[in-house]
Amino acid sequence: MSNTDFLYAMLNNIYLGMSQVTSQVPMGGDYWIELSTEMMVERMFRKFRHLFTPASKRPADICRAWIDVMDAQGFVNKHHYRFQEEGDRLRVEIQRQGCIYLEYCTTAREEGLPFVCPRMVSCKWVVSHLTDQPYQVEMTINSEGNSSIGYISPAGLADNILARKGDRITIAGERAVVVSTNTYGYLLKAIYQYAPQILPQVLYQSSYSASLVEYDRVDPRYPDKRELIEWLLQHTNYLGVIRYEIVEFDEINKRARIRGYGSYMAEMFLKHNLFLTPHMTCDSARGRLAAYFSRAWNMEMECEEMECEALGNSCCEFVVLPKHL
Ligand SMILES: [Zn+2]
Repeated sequence: MSNTDFLYAMLNNIYLGMSQVTSQVPMGGDYWIELSTEMMVERMFRKFRHLFTPASKRPADICRAWIDVMDAQGFVNKHHYRFQEEGDRLRVEIQRQGCIYLEYCTTAREEGLPFVCPRMVSCKWVVSHLTDQPYQVEMTINSEGNSSIGYISPAGLADNILARKGDRITIAGERAVVVSTNTYGYLLKAIYQYAPQILPQVLYQSSYSASLVEYDRVDPRYPDKRELIEWLLQHTNYLGVIRYEIVEFDEINKRARIRGYGSYMAEMFLKHNLFLTPHMTCDSARGRLAAYFSRAWNMEMECEEMECEALGNSCCEFVVLPKHL
């Protein structure tokens, strides 16, 4: 193994290590890999800016100039890249053969670790920086054709719903506080002791209203509604609240079925005995799903829980249907 091969192996394993960490820390995920990559790119860009000479401020020219800089350093081969503008999107095609991040790309996917393509993110950051507007990467891997294809397009999704700004953690721009289920459980128990019958409605309605705000913070015009909802739901998993899985998404007939695993609500209801009679407990989850789908499908939707971990089922299962059939 040559010195260069060793360094490339090291680089790939640094990325794999970061992906492992971000899959294990609270509020981790792809976003943090992307953010770390952007910060690295920014530092490299500052270091090599004097060599960067784009022909224009068009995204394709910006990317070509940036790749030229890295090609001149022997880091990438510029002939492995193809850029093509399609409306306001930039199509980026990169040959996988000989890609220096191939080990990271294949291993992260095999092991189910968070992954973002450092080369696509690198181009995206430089485009955002030069045009002074947010862009995002959507990508597909075409392993049969041996190329990675991505689109750099004006950002529709917010940077991240969870962020840290100075001393504050925020969710959709609102300050968030992390509490134990014990603390939250006693709060719910206090409500339960005074008015047990209102607890489900309090949980449903508060979650519904908060989720509408979250949805509206993200660009509601984002074209792929399923992708948008999946993106939002992913954050509850990062928070360790519940892990959702969409099993049916029928936009034409306006019906969705979602499974939830590891519901904190079910756990808390059992622990604090918040039942009137044994029943489904995940009213916050119902409120959240009803809100997201109401906005996404532009119709008042409601959500019922059909199975619940609190009743001993292997997961919680929710059905979302129009409120007025
Ligand atoms: Zn449940």
